[in-house]
Amino acid sequence: MALSPMMQQYLNIKEQHKDALLFYRLGDFYEMFFDDAKTASRELELVLTGRDCGLEERAPMCGVPYHSCDAYISRLVARGYKVAICEQMADPSSCKGIVPREITRIITPGTVTDGNMLDESCNNYLACVFSSDNGVGLCFLDASTGVCEITQLSGEDVEARLISEVGRYLPKEIIINYAVASFSSFGFFLKNKVGCLVEQKDDGYFNDDVASCFIDSLFSRQSISKEVLEGREYASVALGGSLRYLSENQKNDLQNITTVLYYSDQQYMQLDLNARRNLELTGNIRTRDKRGSLLWVLDRTRTPMGKRMIRSWIEQPLLSPAQICKRQNAVAELYSDPVLCDDLFDSLTKIYDIERIMTKVVCGSANPRELVSLAYALSSVPALKQEILSCNSELLCTIYEDMDELSDVVSLINEAIAENPPLVLKDGGVIRKGYNADLDLLLDDRAFTESVISKIEAEEKLKTGIKTLKVGYNRVFGYYIEVSNSFKDLVPEHYIRKQTLTNGERYITEELKELEGKVLGAKQRAVQLEYELFNAVRTHVAAQYGRIQSTARAIAKIDVLRSLADVARKNNYCMPTIGTSGRINIKDGRHPVVEKMIDAPFVPNDTLLDSGENRCSIITGPNMAGKSTFMRQTALIVIMAQIGSFVPAASAEIDIVDAVYTRVGASDDLAGGQSTFMVEMSEVAYILNNATKDSLLVFDEIGRGTSTYDGMSIARAVLEFVSDKKRIGAKTLFATHYHELTELEDMLDGVKNYNIAAKKRGYNITFLRRIVRGGADDSYGIEVAKLAGVPDSVVKRAKDILTSIVKKDISFKNTEISESNEDDMQISFVDTRNDGIIERLSTIDVNTLTPIEALSVLYELCKEAKKS
Ligand code: ATP
Repeated sequence: MALSPMMQQYLNIKEQHKDALLFYRLGDFYEMFFDDAKTASRELELVLTGRDCGLEERAPMCGVPYHSCDAYISRLVARGYKVAICEQMADPSSCKGIVPREITRIITPGTVTDGNMLDESCNNYLACVFSSDNGVGLCFLDASTGVCEITQLSGEDVEARLISEVGRYLPKEIIINYAVASFSSFGFFLKNKVGCLVEQKDDGYFNDDVASCFIDSLFSRQSISKEVLEGREYASVALGGSLRYLSENQKNDLQNITTVLYYSDQQYMQLDLNARRNLELTGNIRTRDKRGSLLWVLDRTRTPMGKRMIRSWIEQPLLSPAQICKRQNAVAELYSDPVLCDDLFDSLTKIYDIERIMTKVVCGSANPRELVSLAYALSSVPALKQEILSCNSELLCTIYEDMDELSDVVSLINEAIAENPPLVLKDGGVIRKGYNADLDLLLDDRAFTESVISKIEAEEKLKTGIKTLKVGYNRVFGYYIEVSNSFKDLVPEHYIRKQTLTNGERYITEELKELEGKVLGAKQRAVQLEYELFNAVRTHVAAQYGRIQSTARAIAKIDVLRSLADVARKNNYCMPTIGTSGRINIKDGRHPVVEKMIDAPFVPNDTLLDSGENRCSIITGPNMAGKSTFMRQTALIVIMAQIGSFVPAASAEIDIVDAVYTRVGASDDLAGGQSTFMVEMSEVAYILNNATKDSLLVFDEIGRGTSTYDGMSIARAVLEFVSDKKRIGAKTLFATHYHELTELEDMLDGVKNYNIAAKKRGYNITFLRRIVRGGADDSYGIEVAKLAGVPDSVVKRAKDILTSIVKKDISFKNTEISESNEDDMQISFVDTRNDGIIERLSTIDVNTLTPIEALSVLYELCKEAKKS
């Protein structure tokens, strides 16, 4: 048996796109076959059917309607699949034999451009990493907004920095060359922490002539200067690979990439993925949802562009005091003018996703309604500009300059496109009356002819005397005259019968056909003309891409600055002093997220860290006292300050930190094949190897994942290492339950003890949440266990054990052993009975025993028991 020609065509195309699910257009459906069908039916919950394919067994098949395919595609892409769209390249009715088909685009997680398939509040990055002997090039490209950022790394710590960069952008898809595989930690990180789609390509893919061509064609456009690539060999190669991959998948000429920005990773605060996640910068640690994160508190933006920008600001705190102060001054100016903030709020609320609509405009896929919403969004720009006209801060003045009122674009769209246009072009109705004289003439002609047709109904009724005569229209017969059966006899001879219905007959006449020809001809010409006019408008708007995108970015900036000002005012934040004095001095600091989540009032606390006497704070205190909250709040206040935001404190002096590292909590990585303790130690190792004297380190109970002595020794050694100016000397917050470590205050330079106080009465404990100088005397672990609902008997037993440990003054380790021996004795009470007795009992069948026998057995057993 031979495959049917259609199936042969399908398999030929599939052969070239083995790694994608092939959406094969068949009439009004995209069909999937064989394994693709099985996968899609499972993932999309579609019914799996079959289709004759020429072979004995039917091919498994499932499909989705072409007009609603976006929702299905986005679900597949979100789950990491690639989808190849295979279209019919000719009208099937005009084809002899099999309809020619081609792949028109491949949608992959990192190359999606359609806003409907994406989360508007996040960028969607495709990353490219190219490694060579002397350096690594990186490119992060968001095809949906046209943003492209490149950098290159070299030096000994290249792998750690690579991990940090990819952790910052969290791409949906990454293309790497084979040499990248030699970075084993990076491979582990990609697989277990990022979990994105990874494509490996050979070196030629990134730097052969084809890749260079893509770069040349990108830079041949006026708006982008090639200077950005000068002396940046590896970054250029990564850019080449990204452009090539994007173009191969999107099958377009990359008009949507409008900026290529070179950045240095030294420009931003180093924040590895652990720190981002532990500090809950953009998602909470449990579900990764926005609620409960710093982003959740700071994001009061109104536009999708603003939402994406505030996220990226939080992901990239700055290092340059000048740049930070620029942002701060703009926030301060808006902070002091609530009326202006309210006006901006109103104007911004009307603005849609200009960046993503423009990407569609440039790719030629924007529909009439999208153009109208673009005009609507842009029509707010003059008001927005006017609102910030009188602002004085440098950044707001630059934003004012960067905003183009774009009134020409708005007028063009408003003049050309109808007020409520249809989604699609094929039925016309897109172009506004008065925009084009030829079109108006065609439409008038058509309207006139249609009015003639409607008059025919009245005339024919009169002529024939058929009261129920109706003129109608359908796609198959065009215009027709319908006569009900009871008047059939009155039908004139020149009526030509076309269709019989249950209640009547349908006819056409020469006159009707002639008019119909006119109507349809005019309609066809009008639709064609509308299409051409719409395309011309779209192309004209596309040519304004640079102006519109820079305006969109300016709008995003105002949105973010307004949001920061609004949050600062509503939450009573202060403007931090940014400096290089070496000091972090926070008065009455609060945790920005916890203060919003708890019902009780938040107790503010001070932080003092500097590069001298106060480098390292050892923080002790009861469980639940607020140690972690205090340390995180300090880290978050520093990050917020370096973003340019105000901070939750009465006052704050923030010395720039180059990195925040955290070792917090037990982030098990069992799936990654590592034990809790192993993970803890690798994180500690990473910090010790990468932190500098300008970093801020947060250690929360290190060493608790192993035995007490090992843990305590490791904690102490780490503390010695980080506080030693010759080794690291970083600003450090170190929470611990090993009270023995507080002795280090007298032994190590720069180390100070702090504790978070609590009051204890009997078993009850009151948390004061105040951090004070000095070490804590107790962990109150048992009281907290009681608070948490551990059964009273267990709490009491723990108390007894503790008392005995303290009384006997025996080491913890010995106590544990001796206590557990004592326990063993108690638990084994049953076991210590003579095994013989149990054995004997197990052989007795009580049901067959006479009372006398029972008594005698009992007697024997008692005798036996007394012996043992
Ligand atoms: P453990 O040693 O058990 O890890 P901890 O000392 O680190 O505990 P946190 O987790 O920081 O304690 O705090 C426990 C809870 O106390 C927080 O979830 C918060 O609800 C509350 N809390 C912490 N700090 C404050 C504060 N300054 N004001 C008000 N409530 C606070």
